[in-house]
Amino acid sequence: MPKKIISIDQGTTSSRAVVYSDKGELIGYEQMEFSQLFPDDGWVEHDPEEIWQSVVQVLKRSIQRFDLIPSDIASIGITNQRETVVIWDKKTGKPIYNAIVWQDRRTSDFCDSLKESESLIQQKTGLTVDPYFSASKVNWILNKVNGARKRADKGELLFGTIDSFLIWKLTEGRDHKTDVSNASRTMLYNIRTNCWDDELLSLFSIPSNLLPSVCDNSYDFGYTELVGGKVRIGGVAGDQQSALIGQCCFDIGDVKSTYGTGCFMMMNTGSEIINSSNKLLSTIAYRLDGETTYALEGSIFVAGSAIQWLRDGLEFFQQAAESEDIALQAKDSSRVIVIPALTGLGAPYWDAEARGAIFGLTRDTGIPEITKGVLESVAYQTKDLLEAMRNDKAFFNTIKIDGGMVANNWFSQELSNVLQVTVSRPKITETTSLGVAYLAGLHSGVFENLSSLKDNWAIDRKFTPDRTTTGYVEWKNAVKKVLTD
Ligand code: ADP
Repeated sequence: MPKKIISIDQGTTSSRAVVYSDKGELIGYEQMEFSQLFPDDGWVEHDPEEIWQSVVQVLKRSIQRFDLIPSDIASIGITNQRETVVIWDKKTGKPIYNAIVWQDRRTSDFCDSLKESESLIQQKTGLTVDPYFSASKVNWILNKVNGARKRADKGELLFGTIDSFLIWKLTEGRDHKTDVSNASRTMLYNIRTNCWDDELLSLFSIPSNLLPSVCDNSYDFGYTELVGGKVRIGGVAGDQQSALIGQCCFDIGDVKSTYGTGCFMMMNTGSEIINSSNKLLSTIAYRLDGETTYALEGSIFVAGSAIQWLRDGLEFFQQAAESEDIALQAKDSSRVIVIPALTGLGAPYWDAEARGAIFGLTRDTGIPEITKGVLESVAYQTKDLLEAMRNDKAFFNTIKIDGGMVANNWFSQELSNVLQVTVSRPKITETTSLGVAYLAGLHSGVFENLSSLKDNWAIDRKFTPDRTTTGYVEWKNAVKKVLTD
């Protein structure tokens, strides 16, 4: 029986193909970056053809590097940047416009005009009305690209999030499918009835013939022959949902928080959809054998990217990892509070126009104090999410962390102190690609069931609160000063 699983991790800045063993051990990966296009203020696009080529490259390279033949590969999984949209020609496969990326804000005014429908949309989709999600971007392409609406009405076009576009390309046009976790981020999918919603489709003027069929996360998504033989695509999930699975958060109340460019915290809420009164999102975590598990999610736009800004913009240090030693040099007396709203503030504020600020500067404020302030700000933002979850009656005592920032021990300990909860860091922090490897492996029989996967989760380090902190009150006061509404 074939034993290896390949996860395609199609992220916002790079594509990776990660090879896993049948025990969920990471064997290695190939990675390739692609262009970020900023054609106008607040616009972010990717070239779908370039994304596709990067995926083909890393897939082929990983097969070569690890000496695999198609019969060694039990299944392929796909995890992807969520919400980003592509519309392409059904016959030729050619995209009619660049992919509009989740970060893109061009549809802000349109979303503002939907305020009246906000509660209806939230009730059906679990999402707050924001350009972040796919629907308004699809509407924009259909309205702005010459002839697009006519062609859509004639049934000549297809829409998909990145997973769907990749499935279609990998299967050479045989399968137009997506999974529930990606569908639940489009703002067109009713998470209660588990189907595309006609009322939402009409609100966003999107014909239903554009849409992919929506499948369980562990499913037969079709096969590809582009790897030299037939290999099945057996698992698909959006990146954050995949990380939730990779962290084995299968029980109600299990929480994972990923600290990469941004921070995404997700709690498993089982079969319950929590109607957040605190601007958190309810979303589909996964659906297996037709049974849906939901999650409550808080998204922070700026986390590790603030460290990147200190490194590249302010040139405080050369490597992100140096931020740990530098923060340790900060004077105890420092009261510096940094609001890293470099691209607005996400949950629970959802204020795209808010901009960053530094408070509490004195003559002896230097690089260490500001660096510490930035690291603390990520912990305070997480505390905002924790408070929002508690106010929504979603409680937890421990979180599992992952993402590039959690290599920073000072940050991880401070996070535990600010939250006053236990913070666990697993041995494999590569949880995004691992989650979908599990899904693909479940489909091909490499893994038995969810509970058997829990044995693979191993702890690297546990951080328990070792002191109380006082900065959060100052943080809340400082945030009030940068909010625009
Ligand atoms: P993504 O998947 O969003 O590209 P990663 O999970 O690879 O992000 O994490 C990279 C981010 O983590 C970068 O923004 C970087 O600044 C930050 N980072 C990496 N190492 C550290 C560290 N030791 N301390 C603080 N931040 C770090």
